[in-house]
Amino acid sequence: MTLPVIDMREVSRRYDDGPPALHEVSLTVRRGEAVAIVGPSGSGKSTLLNLIAGLDRPDTGTVSVDGVRVDRLGEAGAALYRRSRIGMVFQFFHLLDDLTVLDNVALPARLAGAARGRAERRAAELLELLGIGRHGGAYPGRLSGGERQRVAVARALMNRPALLLADEPTGALDTAAGQEVSRLLSDLHAEGQTVVVVTHDLALARSCTDRTVRIADGRIAEDVRSGAAR
Ligand code: ADP
Repeated sequence: MTLPVIDMREVSRRYDDGPPALHEVSLTVRRGEAVAIVGPSGSGKSTLLNLIAGLDRPDTGTVSVDGVRVDRLGEAGAALYRRSRIGMVFQFFHLLDDLTVLDNVALPARLAGAARGRAERRAAELLELLGIGRHGGAYPGRLSGGERQRVAVARALMNRPALLLADEPTGALDTAAGQEVSRLLSDLHAEGQTVVVVTHDLALARSCTDRTVRIADGRIAEDVRSGAAR
């Protein structure tokens, strides 16, 4: 048995005096799975995502990702973990507007110490693979929302992450662009990439994942495998 990519055990997190944002949540995601985390606003999805990304720590319980005890990392360790083990995609892309598309994509490798030529070659390959090779020299501001999200996905894949973590990746896109991004995630999953998508968008959840975990009031209310990602 290989190690799961995500292994969360009895994780609880509460903010101040509020009710628990997460209550004894246990979640295992195996290598190659594509999982949608769904649930109403305030149910605890962002809290879960932040714990997986090492942006926050649980009050109790453990969080392991790709064999790393994320809940034990300090700030520098968490930054290194995020750079090397996971790739993140956000609703509003978070691209750097004064870098070219190619440089945006190459950046995670450069930050990890890769030589410029090598980083740029892989960035160009990824852009090609994602169907936006011709935009490498452009600045993100010139691209459509769908194209920007492809750039963000390319950047997230730059350091060959064990886990691709997407937070409402279609939230800022029109229907057609959203479907394209959904197809892209689905293709990556088909190629073996482990993917976790946090979303309100049930169509996205259905179309690009094979398992849906529904969170309600800080607990896992439902965990369903569809077995039909495509
Ligand atoms: P979701 O992403 O599903 O909308 P969240 O994880 O953001 O849910 O929130 C879960 C609960 O935790 C909510 O009740 C929310 O108000 C609370 N919460 C989230 N972040 C904070 C914070 N930084 N400070 C205080 N309460 C928070």
